[in-house]
Amino acid sequence: MRILILISIGLLLYIIIANLLFKDGALLTMATVEMVRCSHCGMHIPENKSVRSEENFYCSQAHFDEHHKVN
Ligand SMILES: [Zn+2]
Repeated sequence: MRILILISIGLLLYIIIANLLFKDGALLTMATVEMVRCSHCGMHIPENKSVRSEENFYCSQAHFDEHHKVN
């Protein structure tokens, strides 16, 4: 019975460690994505999630529209 408990604890630790490593991997992937600044509100967003207009980036379609209305 004691072995079973040890195995389940080991398995649990393995899952926790695997999760931590996966999170680190995800962070590393995120770090390689270039961060850009929204030209309307100044918020930083990953380039692949931004709305792009020539040399400008926007955090959302709404800010893209608003910025183009003002100018
Ligand atoms: Zn914005």
